[in-house]
Amino acid sequence: MKITSIELNVIEMPLKDPFLTHLGAVNIREGIIIKITNSDGVSGYGEGVAFSTPWYTEETVKTSLHMLTDFLIPILQKNPIDHPSQASRLFSSLRRNNMAKAAIETALWDLYAKSHSQPLSKTLGGTRSAIPAGVVVATDSATKALAQIDQYLQEGYQRVKVKINPKQDYSFLSEIRRFFPDLPLMADANSAYKLTDLERIKALDDFNLLMIEQPLAYDDILEHSFLQKEIKTPICLDESICSYDDALKAIEFGCCKVINIKVGRVGGLYEAKRIHDYCFEQGVPVWCGGMIEFGISRAHNIALASLPGFSIPGDISSSNRFWEEDIITPEVNVQNGLVAVPTSPGIGFKLNKKRLQEVLQWKETIVF
Ligand SMILES: [Mg+2]
Repeated sequence: MKITSIELNVIEMPLKDPFLTHLGAVNIREGIIIKITNSDGVSGYGEGVAFSTPWYTEETVKTSLHMLTDFLIPILQKNPIDHPSQASRLFSSLRRNNMAKAAIETALWDLYAKSHSQPLSKTLGGTRSAIPAGVVVATDSATKALAQIDQYLQEGYQRVKVKINPKQDYSFLSEIRRFFPDLPLMADANSAYKLTDLERIKALDDFNLLMIEQPLAYDDILEHSFLQKEIKTPICLDESICSYDDALKAIEFGCCKVINIKVGRVGGLYEAKRIHDYCFEQGVPVWCGGMIEFGISRAHNIALASLPGFSIPGDISSSNRFWEEDIITPEVNVQNGLVAVPTSPGIGFKLNKKRLQEVLQWKETIVF
C-alpha cells in the first residue's frame, strides 16, 4: 500500500432537524473526511465521526485532528504496511482515541479493497446483498415522535429506535405503543439511569422492546450485569464497548444480550470485525450503530453490516434522514426497507466533490 498523500478535510453541515438526547442537542455536524492516495493514483476514503464536543465519547473533531496529524499519520509515514490490519496493530501503541484511529484505518480498507478491485463488503467477508434499515427518532415529545415514526414507516424502515431518559420513558413509550403496538421498537438511554432506578427500568418490560440500549453508565460493565438479571428486556451495550476485550467481558459476565458495533467507537473495521466474529461464535446478535454521520462513514457501515452476524436492523438510514445533500454520490437510499450493498470496488460510493467544497471548513494535505 504505497501511500503518497493523505488529505484531511474538515466539513460542517446543518442537520435537517435537531437530534435530541438527554445529553444535549446536535444541530450542526462537523466531521473529518480523509482521502489516502497510493502510488497508482487510487484513493480510499474514511470519515472521522467524533463530535464537536465530547458528549458521546471523550474525543472531539479537534482532538482527532491532533491525533491524526501529530501521531497517526507519522506512524504510517515511518512504517509502510501491506494490509489495513497492520495499521490497527501499529495504532495500538497509542491509548484509545478510537475515532481518530478509525478515520484513517477505514480509509486504508477502502484503498486496499479498491486496489484489489473488490467491494469492501467482500474484503471484510460480507455475505449479504442488502441490509435491513432502521432509523433513530431523537425528539422531545411523543407527538413529534409519533409523526416521525409514521413518516419513517411509510419510507419502509424496519425498526425504530427512540431516545429515553427518566423524564421521558414510561408514558412516552405507552403513547408510541398505543399507536404502533407491533412496531419493532427499541429504546436508547445513553446512560440516563442509575441502578437505583431499577423499578423504573423494570417497568419498561411492559412494552415488548427489542432491547434497551446502554441504560447505565457509559463506562460500566458490572452494574449492567446486575440489571440484566432483573429485567426481561435484553440489554444492548453501546458506549461501554470500545474494544474486543470489552465485548468479551460484557458477554462473559452476562451484562448484555446484544451488542451495538460502531466502527468509530472501537477504533476501526479490523476491531469491529473481531467483535462481530466473537459475537457470532457466541450466538450474540449485533447491529451497526450510527453517529449522525456523512456518507463515507455510512458506506463503511453498509460494508460492515453485510457480515452474517448483523442480524438486527441497525441505524443505517438514507442520506436524507439528516442531510439536504450528502457528500457522496449516489446517496444512500432505503428502498422497501433495505439498503443495497454496493458491488463496485471499495466502499462503492464516490465523493461528491462539489458538495464537499460547499461544506468545507479547513483542509490540509500531507505528502509522504
Ligand atoms: Mg446508543
